[in-house]
Order: sequence, then structure tokens, then C-alpha cells
Amino acid sequence: MLTLPSDSIRQIQWRFAERYDLQMLVQSARGVARGTVAHMVASGERNSHEWTPAKNEMLEAFDRAGITAAFMEPEEGGFISGPKNLALALAAFELAWVDGGAATASLAGFLALAPIHERGTPEQSRHYKSLSAPPQIGEERKPWRGAFVLTEPIPYVGVDTGMLNGKARIADWRDGEEPWLQVEKRGRFITNIAFANFVTAAVASDDPRIKGSCVIILEETDEGTFDHGTPTKKLVHQLSSTGDPIFNLKVPASRIVGGYTVKDGVLVPNFNHSEVIEAVFRRTRVTVGLMTAAKLLSAVEPVIRYQRGRFRGAEGAKPGTVRYEQGIQQREDALHRLVDVWATGEAAASLGFAAARIFDELDPIEKQKTGILSERGVGSGRAELKALRESEQRAIEFLRMREQDARRAEFAADPLVQFVLKDAEANVLCPATKLWNTGNGANVMREAVSLMGGYGITEDCPGFLASKWMDAQLEATYEGPEAVQRRQLTITMTSDVFLAEFRAWTAEMRTIAATHPGTGACTLATAMRMWLWTLEHLQKATDAAGHKLYHGQRQGVTFPLVDALCWLLASRYQILDVLELEQRGSTDPSVADAAMGTAQFLSDLCHVQSARAAGEVSRICAELVFGYNEHPSWSDQACTTCCFSTDELEELEETMPGIAAMAIDVLKPNGSHPPKAGPCAGCKGAGDFLQLQNKLCTCLSGSRLAKDRAADTVSKVMIPEALDYPL
Ligand SMILES: Cc1cc2nc3c(=O)[nH]c(=O)nc-3n(C[C@H](O)[C@H](O)[C@H](O)COP(=O)(O)OP(=O)(O)OC[C@H]3O[C@@H](n4cnc5c(N)ncnc54)[C@H](O)[C@@H]3O)c2cc1C
Repeated sequence: MLTLPSDSIRQIQWRFAERYDLQMLVQSARGVARGTVAHMVASGERNSHEWTPAKNEMLEAFDRAGITAAFMEPEEGGFISGPKNLALALAAFELAWVDGGAATASLAGFLALAPIHERGTPEQSRHYKSLSAPPQIGEERKPWRGAFVLTEPIPYVGVDTGMLNGKARIADWRDGEEPWLQVEKRGRFITNIAFANFVTAAVASDDPRIKGSCVIILEETDEGTFDHGTPTKKLVHQLSSTGDPIFNLKVPASRIVGGYTVKDGVLVPNFNHSEVIEAVFRRTRVTVGLMTAAKLLSAVEPVIRYQRGRFRGAEGAKPGTVRYEQGIQQREDALHRLVDVWATGEAAASLGFAAARIFDELDPIEKQKTGILSERGVGSGRAELKALRESEQRAIEFLRMREQDARRAEFAADPLVQFVLKDAEANVLCPATKLWNTGNGANVMREAVSLMGGYGITEDCPGFLASKWMDAQLEATYEGPEAVQRRQLTITMTSDVFLAEFRAWTAEMRTIAATHPGTGACTLATAMRMWLWTLEHLQKATDAAGHKLYHGQRQGVTFPLVDALCWLLASRYQILDVLELEQRGSTDPSVADAAMGTAQFLSDLCHVQSARAAGEVSRICAELVFGYNEHPSWSDQACTTCCFSTDELEELEETMPGIAAMAIDVLKPNGSHPPKAGPCAGCKGAGDFLQLQNKLCTCLSGSRLAKDRAADTVSKVMIPEALDYPL
């Protein structure tokens, strides 16, 4: 690989080489990010909590660049028709490459509209999206800005979105007329609030004439109080606005997102607040995960430049000397650590873009599924789950079919089977992207910062790395922190359909390993087997006190298993992207040469990452498999199975010479034993696990050679003279 991966290469890897509209969006978002946004950061605009004129101009730059309109359908003022998950993810990736707050400022507007887009009535959707679209040429109008208001002052909504304090009551309901509602809501940490013209707020009923909860649209000009609140004193994402607003407003019931019906004199929202929020976060959390991926990859170029130039200007470092040309890159550790940062960034981007794409694929299939089920008279909720059970069985059967099975085409064409498959994958990929990219990404960003030495923790650090490190922590927190993603994955990763997919993916990695051993696919396949073995073991096993290990409340068991899965998933999608690059790149003469060299390097990064993932999985699984057993003591039953007596050993020596030298836990005739707390623990019931672990260790063969190769490439790859944005 001679140069850093080009746009053409990324377009192939992340599968938008045929999407000219998305390529244009990337270019225009990049222009704003590396122009307007980068200048704002460089000139200290992050130093204020206030919403400043410069920050406001940034929103206008988003509008001009088409970023705001990327959310809308063409008839609403947008330019992309159909699903837009990948589009929004790419735009956020470009903005977060320079500044996470800028990316959030654009995403928060979409987040405000998302409840209306996902669950709103067609009229609500058209109305608010058209108002929020930037004006067309010749149109004199300011676009509306929105905020999404879920989180409330402590002790209410945070991670637990069920504890709502925001309330709605009937203010006025005249016969035959639309009811009016009095809505009270206080928000905490609400993005975009300084300038929001409307908000979508989650509230619960405080009136027997309203059922349950809902999300409701509140406008700045509604009767009552729309207090934007004071700015939050954030340490992160300062280019976005955040504050604690207060609302007490009278609004018509038609503002309930998704509408309502009236049953026996009670107003019943068509969707409760949880249903709306679930549909929203399911998609928007992917984009947040991609923001951290962008940060990691954006660190590569500044770190290389810093490392190479580190000693230039010193007396002993004359041009042409290794010290001058390579600087810190003479040192293996510096290169290896950068390889780790780069590999994490690649894996995070691959996982995130795969998640964004699957939602683009899922959106039309989901509509098809809803159509088919409503034709059959099946409602939503439990009835739908029941109706899809047969399709789940068919999906599992489909995954197990051989290539030549005559029924494959029929199953592949069944929209319900396809829905069930994609839904199971999406239900895992979204929280996995949010959890792994941001949580692990924040840790790895620290590594990136450390590679710049003292410079790394100054405002002058090229690439704004220290800000990105801190910003990554917010990405791990908002839209639901890590516990929320782990809780969700605990459920979705154990669905029968997902586990069948996971088995198929394990086999797929073995097949890939046959032709592409350099990707580390074989290591990954073994680690995937170990994860599955551990899950199945823990689902049956109990702890030393006889208590069940795998259940929702036992986060000490379920959460680490979730983390282990995320490592595996990130590695899998990273490998798949490199294969795509190799296959598609080789057939495109315009990129063939660069694609092959880059694919080789990225393949080495896959190997590095899969070895790391395997290590994490092995560590986590071993702790869970053995950690809940009581350590044996000399007094208990363990002695009868684990220990030898001196007499026994003497007898055994006759048939097995040398055994006495191997025996560790030997009881002497007087009952004394070695000076330890108890005999060493055995591996009863976990022999298969140890075999797998053994295999996994040997599967790591070659992974460090791959790291050496990758490090060598990093030390030679050409980078531009200067970063293409200030600093
Ligand atoms: C800059 C910023 C912008 C934001 N923008 C918005 C916005 O636009 N709209 C909006 O509605 N909200 C917004 N938020 C709020 C954000 O979504 C919440 O802060 C976040 O969901 C976490 O909630 P919390 O702060 O109450 O944390 P807590 O709930 O107090 O969590 C604290 C810790 O406890 C852990 N924890 C909590 N519950 C559990 C559990 N059941 N099991 C295990 N561990 C648990 C968490 O993982 C976390 O580590 C924003 C926040 C910030 C900081």
C-alpha cells in the first residue's frame, strides 16, 4: 500500500461505489467539516458553552451543503429517496472526522424528526419534515430546528426510560371537538435546545382520560412556557447546544406522534412512548457508533506525521538519516500501537457501516412484512410475534440448507423469512455498534492521544485528538449508555434466529480461511465456537451455590458475554469488507493496483484485530466458565477426586513410571498436604472448553507476523505534506 486508503477504496469497502448521490453527500459534508467546522475548532469556538453566531452559521453551512436535507424525501425538500441510514451515517462520519459536536448538531435535528418519521401520521411527517427542510432557491424561509426530549432531571428518565415524570392532562375537551392537552415536561441534557422551534417530548398520562404514555410535538409558539433553559457546562461536543429546558404548554391532541383513537371516552395514543423511542434509537444509535470510528481513523494521518517528524531540526538528525526520515517510527512499539489504533478504527467502521446498510435493507422488507400481516388480519405486538414464529423456523431451516438444496430459491424469495433474518441481525448489530465502537473506541482513542506525547493533550494537537478522546465518552453515553446496549444484546443475541445466523457465520469464516488465511478468519472461527460453547454452557450451568448463571438480572455473566460477542462481530465485518475490496477492486481497472496493495495491508489489520478479539473472547469466557466454581479445599469431596495419597502413587508408579513426579496434590499418610489453600481446581465439565482454548492459542500463529508486516507498511506509507484541515 503506497498511500492511505482513497475514497474509491472506501466506496468499495463500505458498498457505496454505485451510489453517486452518497458520494456527493460525502464530498459536501467533508467540505463543511474540513472547512467551516475545522476553522471553528481551531479558533477556539469549543471554549464556550453558549450558542454563538459562529455555531449558528455552522447549521446554515449544513443546510447549504445538503446535510440537513439528507433526512428528507424529495417531496419534502430532500434529494435521496428511500432508506437513508447509510446516507446519514456517511455524513456523520465525515463531520465527526473533524468534530463530534458538529456531527451531533446535525444528527440531533434528525433525532427530533425521527419519532415523527418512524411513527408519525403521514400529515405530521410531511408537515414537520417540510418545515425542517432548508429553503429551496428563491424561497424566503428559515428552516425549523428540532430537539428530542426524553431525558429528565434526576431521579427520572436516564438509562431507564420507563420512569417518566413528564405529564399530559386533558386541558379542554368539548363534545365533538379535538381535545386539548396540558403538557408539562422538564428536560435534562437536551441537544439543539438553544434554538429549537419544536421538540418531540416523551410524556406519561396524568389523567384517567388519557391512556399510558406518548411522544408529543411541542412548538415554540404554543400557549404557555417554552423555556429553552440554561446551557449545560459540557466538557465535550461544545459545537452542539445542550441545555435543560422547561415546558408547560397547551397543545391540540393531534400533536401526539402517530395519532390517537378515543375509546369509551378515553384518549388512546396509537403508540406509547416506548414504542416510538425503540423505533428511533434502533437506527440512530448506529450513526453514533460510526462517529467514534471516524475519530479513530482520523487519528492515523496526524500520528504518522508526528512520529516521522519528531526529531527533524535536531543537530544529529540530518536529512537522509533514519532518525530524520523515520523519527519515532524507527521504534517497533510506536508502529505496533498505531497499527492497533488503525485496526480498531477499521473494525469499528466496518461494523457500523454494515449496521447502517442492514437497516437500509430492512426498511422496505419491514414495510412488506407489515403489509402481508395486515392482509392476513394480524395485528402488531404479540399477535405479530406469534404469526412470525413459523417464518423463524423457516429462516433457521434456510440457514442450515446446503447450497444445492432445491428449496433455497423459494425460501430466499419469502419476504417474511428475509424479514426475520435481517431483523435478527439488525437487532444485534445496532447495539453492538453503539457499545463496541464507542466504549472500546474511547479506550483506544486514549492510545492514539498517547502516541502524540505531550502534544496529544494540548489544544494544538493536530487532528484535535484530545477533544476526540473525550468526545468519544459522550458517544458512549448519550442515546443510552453502555448498560442499555448490553441489556438489549443480552436478549437479542440469544434469539434462535440470531444464533442460527451466528453458526452459519462461523462456518463461513472457516471457508474464508481456506482461501484467505491471512485475514485471521480461522482464528475468528475458533473464537466464535468458543463464545457459542460458553453461552450454551452458561445457559445450563449454575454457580457454586446452585443459582442459575445466565439470566437477565445476572449482569456479571450476561454483560461480559455481550462484550465478547461485539469483538467477534467487529472482526467479522472487517474481514468481509476486505474480501469485498479484493473481489470488486480487482475487476475495476481504475483502482485495481491500489486496491490489491491496500487489501493486503487491510488484511493484515484484520489478522491483528481477530487475534486481539480472540484473546478477549478467551479471557472473558474462561473467567465465566471457571469463575463461578468454588475453589476446592482440602477438607471437602475434592480431595477424593483430585488428590493422590502417597500409597496410591507408589502403586501407580509400578505401572506408570514417573507419575509421582507429575502429581501435584499429594496427601501424606498423616493427612498433611502441600502448603496451599486447597488442591488445584479440575476441569470437570469444561474439558471441551480447554480443548478449544488450546486450539485458539495455536490459531494465533501468524498474527504477530501480520502485525510486523502492517507496521512495516505504516512506516513507509505516503501521507500528504500537511493535514487538509487547520492544525
Ligand atoms: C451532551 C449530552 C447530550 C444529550 N442529548 C440528549 C438529547 O438530545 N435528548 C435526550 O433525551 N437526552 C440527551 N442526553 C441524555 C443522555 O441520553 C443520558 O445522559 C444517558 O442516557 C444516560 O443517562 P443518565 O445520565 O441518567 O445516566 P445514569 O442512568 O445515571 O447512568 C449512570 C451509570 O449507571 C449505569 N446504569 C444505569 N442503569 C443501569 C442498569 N439498569 N444496569 C446497569 N447499569 C446501569 C449506566 O450504564 C452508567 O454507567 C444527553 C446527554 C449529554 C451528556
